[in-house]
Amino acid sequence: MTSAMEPVWVGVDVGGTKVLAGVVDEHGRVVRTARRATPGRRVDAVRVEDALVQAVLEVAGGSPIAGVGVAAAGFVDASGSRVMFAPHLPWQGEDVRDRLADRWGVPVTLDNDANGAAVAEWTYGAARGARSAIVVTMGTGIGGGIIIDDHLVRGANGMAGEFGHMQVVPGGQPCECGGRGCWEQYSSGNALVRFARARMGEQPSVLEEATGGNPDLVTGPMVTEAAEDGDLVARQAFASVGDWLGVGVANLVAAFDPEVVVIGGGVSAAGDRLLEPARTALVRSLVGAAHRQVPPLVAAQLGPQAGLVGAAELARRASQARR
Ligand SMILES: [Zn+2]
Repeated sequence: MTSAMEPVWVGVDVGGTKVLAGVVDEHGRVVRTARRATPGRRVDAVRVEDALVQAVLEVAGGSPIAGVGVAAAGFVDASGSRVMFAPHLPWQGEDVRDRLADRWGVPVTLDNDANGAAVAEWTYGAARGARSAIVVTMGTGIGGGIIIDDHLVRGANGMAGEFGHMQVVPGGQPCECGGRGCWEQYSSGNALVRFARARMGEQPSVLEEATGGNPDLVTGPMVTEAAEDGDLVARQAFASVGDWLGVGVANLVAAFDPEVVVIGGGVSAAGDRLLEPARTALVRSLVGAAHRQVPPLVAAQLGPQAGLVGAAELARRASQARR
């Protein structure tokens, strides 16, 4: 329990549509939250910071703040001080960390949301106790985080873990990044929808009725629900996305040799429907599979609040490192 005057640790997840702040206790539990709408991309950066400041002060509820961790959907530099680029936010190289620290008067840490989710799963969730772990976050695209020898790997530019843009099919599907054949074009929420749309006309499907026969109206949750109802097209979509998931994970395991691979993000709610074909593809695709322990491929445990839990945890760890 957090008493009124005990200092609290706050995590903030800054996404494209909302700013979600939460008080996180020492067991990684979110005690309470406050939210604000993200003001958008074409506004003064200060307005986004205002939304963060308000959400954090509201959630702290008058308790002293020990530290704030911010997880943003975007590229954060290796020193963790600036958001270099974020598709839904106006930040472009501003020193967000120090500006926010000045406004709250407390230490602030800044990282990207996928790193936040990875740290949360490693500390409190499905990768707890592992010294090396890969966390893959599957939403509309793919993000991720790398834990090696008990450290989060950020890379030279802070850009490590952008798994979604590893090329798996030369000359393949065009990607929003400007490349072609990126992994997330074959294994993500968007890939699931694209597969279902393409197959809808070829065989009978409940998606046909749900959309009045218009493939453009197919959504990810619709495919998930149809798969649960036994729909063949939806099930094939999961089989394909799951297979590609396993292929990409095999590459990550070949590169990093983790103890465990955790799959989080919205698509992972499908559980074994996604993970079973992925496990099969992992064993099939992994170098030396017969001579090594193939790491377990498991579902994330912390759900959509993992980013903010990890953000608060990064703030806590930074304060321990300063001592
Ligand atoms: Zn790409």
